[in-house]
Amino acid sequence: MIHNALLLRIRLYFCCSFNIMNLSDHLHHKVFQIIASVASEEKTPSYVIGGFVRDLLISGSSSAPKDIDIVVIGSGIEMAEKVRDAIGEEIPLSVFKNFGTAMLKWGDTEIEFVGARKESYRLDSRKPLVENGTLEDDQNRRDFTINALAISLNPGDYGELLDPFGGVKHLEEKLITTPLEPGSTFSDDPLRMLRGIRFATTLGFSIEMETLNAIHQYRQRISIVSQERISDELNKIMLALKPSKGFLLLDQTGLLEIIFPEFHQMKGVEQVNEQRHKDNFFHTLEVLDNIALKTDDLWLRWAALLHDIAKPRTRKFEPDIGWTFHAHEFIGAKMIPGIFRKMRLPLNEKMKYVQKLVQLHLRPIVLSQDIVTDAAIRRLIFDAGEDLEDLMTLCEADITSKNERTVKRHLRNFKVVRQKINELEERDSIRNFQPPISGDDIQKVFGIPPSRPVGIIKNAIKEAILDGEILNNFNAAYLRMLEEGEALGLIVHHELKREKD
Ligand code: ATP
Ligand code: MG
Repeated sequence: MIHNALLLRIRLYFCCSFNIMNLSDHLHHKVFQIIASVASEEKTPSYVIGGFVRDLLISGSSSAPKDIDIVVIGSGIEMAEKVRDAIGEEIPLSVFKNFGTAMLKWGDTEIEFVGARKESYRLDSRKPLVENGTLEDDQNRRDFTINALAISLNPGDYGELLDPFGGVKHLEEKLITTPLEPGSTFSDDPLRMLRGIRFATTLGFSIEMETLNAIHQYRQRISIVSQERISDELNKIMLALKPSKGFLLLDQTGLLEIIFPEFHQMKGVEQVNEQRHKDNFFHTLEVLDNIALKTDDLWLRWAALLHDIAKPRTRKFEPDIGWTFHAHEFIGAKMIPGIFRKMRLPLNEKMKYVQKLVQLHLRPIVLSQDIVTDAAIRRLIFDAGEDLEDLMTLCEADITSKNERTVKRHLRNFKVVRQKINELEERDSIRNFQPPISGDDIQKVFGIPPSRPVGIIKNAIKEAILDGEILNNFNAAYLRMLEEGEALGLIVHHELKREKD
């Protein structure tokens, strides 16, 4: 991913200009010139630092950054106000007095200003005691060497890269490591452990050995980090090109067991009478990587991560059959609200969507193996509704056999299921099923109030349509209603006008 041309240029600069690299040609955003002129007028040195600089060096382009961090030797808030005045447009400025920071939102870019600071930490909080500091102090408090890179926005050295900890070298080596001793870095603010694993995952970097060991050593410190922050990082790991990398690192450092015990319990293989089941942890990670190739939808990816979550608790060895995981899809779906609540993930339709996919994840597989009846397909279309496509994507990702021929055979079978779905959909319009006879109609015809028989008749009509016993239209449903009513001892009170055939 690293833009080789740019890195090469940087290396040339490195050799030929006595450790001075100038990136002024790459500071395209209008705000940099404005900050530079305010900084010069006010004699307040300012630098762009952190993620913007890192990503510029990685991708070689700085077009449309989503956030830019500016550190100033002085007041960040005053600088932000002056920059807004200099821009001369009505753009929103948010001031966070308690943190000494201010944020300008200019178009789609958030520009955050902070005064350079020195930090010291207490044991029970990741909130530091803060005092004013130099640029070096500020770079010292950054989490990783690749995040401590700064570019000057000041007259005289505008565009010059300031790299006190070898961040450029670590970008080239694709290495995550801390500027100071890693143990205290992580103990001070344990969120950094997750950030490190997230950057390794999204950037495809390795974590340097001492840094990795320190994460393991200080893993218990994660307990002082809020669940929202933890889940935020997990979501970013989930959205990476290859999310398994992050979960393997979380496992390797012992963090997974603490922050996601349900998933950690999926590890391991048991053997009885020479029969082993597959390791559900590694299987799930394969499914997650498979689905990541097909979708960027965070919740579909969560469904992939959680689809087998109840396997550890349903695992049983049955001598005649082997290993079974009876009803793991139902029990798994039941576990989702508890997991979402604990993880502070949304308890809304996103959660219901994940639940639904977990619950239905075996249905297409069953259909692809048996002789497929129309009724079974119709039921799947009805139960999955608008999420049917996503369910099929999940099921296809769930095929993880080492045997390529088995994989191909399953995928072919799924193609047949998809074809059948399309055929039936054209004919029966089941996906957004609206009952052709309403509860009101039933009450009117039999002259009864809202009551149990109304529900029984309505359900019988729906079942008959899904089983293919009757067509999905008013007349067929009307006749079935009369039969069901008669069976319940109801008498027709009022005829409804039938539709023309
Ligand atoms: P991205 O925006 O892509 O998530 P980023 O590195 O820009 O990555 P931000 O949260 O925007 O992350 O933070 C901006 C900068 O602030 C970082 O690059 C880093 O220098 C510093 N930083 C953020 N969080 C921490 C932390 N917990 N400890 C130390 N430094 C941090
Ligand atoms: Mg950022």
